[in-house]
Amino acid sequence: MNDFNIQKYINNERYIALVDCDSFFCSCERKLNPALKGKPVCVVTGERGCVVARSKEAKAMGIKMGEPVFMALRDYPKCIYVTANHYNYLKISKEVMSILQSLSPQVEVYSIDEAFLDVTKLMGVYKKNYFDFAKFVQDKILKEVDIPVSIGVSKSKTLAKIASYKAKTTKERVVLIGKRKIPKALKDTKVSDVWGIGRRLDVRCKTLGIFTALDFTNKDDFFIKANFGKNGLLTKYELLGNAINEVTNEYTPPKSIMDTQSFLVFTTELDYIKNELLVHIHMACLKLRYAECKCKKIGVILKRKDFLCKFLESKLEYATNFELDITDTAFSLLNLMYEKNVLYRSVGIVLEDICNEGDEQLDFFVDEKKIIKSENLGKAIDALEEKYGKNVVKLGFENKKAPNKQGFLTAPKGK
Ligand SMILES: [Mg+2]
Repeated sequence: MNDFNIQKYINNERYIALVDCDSFFCSCERKLNPALKGKPVCVVTGERGCVVARSKEAKAMGIKMGEPVFMALRDYPKCIYVTANHYNYLKISKEVMSILQSLSPQVEVYSIDEAFLDVTKLMGVYKKNYFDFAKFVQDKILKEVDIPVSIGVSKSKTLAKIASYKAKTTKERVVLIGKRKIPKALKDTKVSDVWGIGRRLDVRCKTLGIFTALDFTNKDDFFIKANFGKNGLLTKYELLGNAINEVTNEYTPPKSIMDTQSFLVFTTELDYIKNELLVHIHMACLKLRYAECKCKKIGVILKRKDFLCKFLESKLEYATNFELDITDTAFSLLNLMYEKNVLYRSVGIVLEDICNEGDEQLDFFVDEKKIIKSENLGKAIDALEEKYGKNVVKLGFENKKAPNKQGFLTAPKGK
């Protein structure tokens, strides 16, 4: 009944670490401005946006993830609110990842603030046990990049996730789940907290009488396959301590990159909307270049005041990560959706069909010189921004005024 050969993986002696940066965006802001250390900090997407990261002090105050900024400002005026700067976060993420890559040949960058490491063979190299090795990695990242991390080590990626989750609640922020500790760890873990199950399958689990990870592993293979498919079975064996999902060095490009934000005021003005769209195209391209990727398809989202949302997408002539290659297509999509005398609340860009730089297939009819010129221009913009600050280079339109000089939002007076 099994599509994959489970026997091949049973009892394989692997140890995998998950390194997860603590409240990553907040930690980055604290690295850049140490005065924020020890204080409640929230990173927000902008004055009209929402909370995207909270320091542990901000969490303790009761601020929720995704809470609209105006509500957080009203209810928690003592917290410090900082506007997100993804450019900085990507740069710091690269510093963390390159330390990990210097320590192990097998590092899988899983997200901006998480990476899996296969540590099986490293113990002999570093002459340390798994726990001490994790502490060593944690200290090194703190000392060299000033970013705190939690590390979970166990016998599969799924268990390493559980271990890192537990690590966040301990003083040492490192948890090792060895072979003998697996059953207890499974018993203590809610099934909804298992990687790959989550809230999506939580309801199904509960109706089947599965509440903990241990309940899940106690079900026989036939039952799991019938109710959760092949991936469910894979999760079961991972939970039992078999590293089926291996750590791969290959970078998986993000599926899509989106950048959008509400306007300061509702508008009917096409030029204003275009201007905003350019800012989003720039931010999205910046993320794409930092990930060393290109996109082959773009989409534009246009939202009306009454929340009615329009979305159109189009293939690009060639894979790119440069603003000017995207602008014309984006503007034509916008023109197709835009209606006069309608009030709009937001516009955004989605970059899709993403591939690694260098993996793109070149068309015979595409002007290669033009592509190289675009690539160089994109890199020049990044270099200028790195040297002189964000938004020194603007395309076409004048950007709207920044919220304030330091990027800090302050609580309303009289509260
Ligand atoms: Mg994290």
